[in-house]
Amino acid sequence: KQRVLSGVQPTGNLHLGNYLGAIRNWVEGQSQYDNFFCVVDLHAITVPHNPATLAADTYTIAALYLACGIDLDHSTIFVQSHISAHSELTWLLNCITPINWLQDMIQFKEKAIKQGENVSTGLLDYPVLMAADILLYDADKVPVGEDQKQHLELTRDLAARFNHLFGQQEEEILKIPEPLIRKEGARVMSLTDGTRKMSKSDPSELSRINLLDPPETITKKIKRCKTDSVRGLEFDNSERPECNNLLTLYGILSGKTKDQVTTECQDMGWGQFKPLLAEATVEALKPIQEKYKAVMSDRAYLESVLKDGREKAEAVANATLARVKTALGYSTPL
Ligand code: ATP
Ligand code: MG
Repeated sequence: KQRVLSGVQPTGNLHLGNYLGAIRNWVEGQSQYDNFFCVVDLHAITVPHNPATLAADTYTIAALYLACGIDLDHSTIFVQSHISAHSELTWLLNCITPINWLQDMIQFKEKAIKQGENVSTGLLDYPVLMAADILLYDADKVPVGEDQKQHLELTRDLAARFNHLFGQQEEEILKIPEPLIRKEGARVMSLTDGTRKMSKSDPSELSRINLLDPPETITKKIKRCKTDSVRGLEFDNSERPECNNLLTLYGILSGKTKDQVTTECQDMGWGQFKPLLAEATVEALKPIQEKYKAVMSDRAYLESVLKDGREKAEAVANATLARVKTALGYSTPL
């Protein structure tokens, strides 16, 4: 079976973008692949973070993986920081990464601008850590949202560069992975600005719907979300990014096709459409929220999942790391 690797940062609660752009696709494809899903807590400290909530947030994300339908028969769930090979491979890859590759990354520029002063070296280095995450597991496929496409390209370039520099006769020491980006839901936009992606790190809670938001909160956020004053609702009008985003969400969450949504909603006003969207969202998230509660009520179970996950993941990661160190010419530890 081909190998899949992906992850989410414990920088906050999971939102609809994370679910529709990433996790839903992990779940749908999981039986075809051998999957590794991690909570990437080393990535979470590339921007200022709160040590008091990091561990709890990490557990929340792991529990949400299970709640969203990750099945341990096909998938391994683990925490990135529990496996030191991630940090170690990052260092080794850093030394073959041209700095300008990193300076050109859109996410770095966007997050650095938002932060102003005190941008860390870690934020610049984020894509190399992500490359290490992927390459350690010899991943064939990496299911992510559209925003991570550029980082995945960098991962591919880095692996090829490493193989070229240190492989004997073009030997593939590091496997070159493919992105797996589904069209639908690959880029869920903010509720307060249809030109920006929905993000955990957006300071406004009103900009996103979290998977654990109670029904009243979902309804309130949708009621307050940005719209426009054009009559009728339509897809694909670039002057109406919010309209396109909300209709797209409605289609995915209610299981209706684009044509069905167009027929149903083209003559509606926002006042009629918003309650429909709110109801579809509440209904779609209900089973996830119920399962989440059940998972969280059994801490010992969740711990055992992460412990088993660490053991399985560590064996794979350490084997790759050893291969890389041998290729680089390191002596064997005595
Ligand atoms: P942060 O703002 O802290 O970077 P994030 O919301 O971007 O948080 P990540 O943990 O960085 O979330 O990304 C986890 C996964 O979710 C990635 O696969 C990413 O591509 C996907 N993703 C993030 N935001 C969206 C979005 N708005 N639409 C679709 N997919 C998304
Ligand atoms: Mg992100």
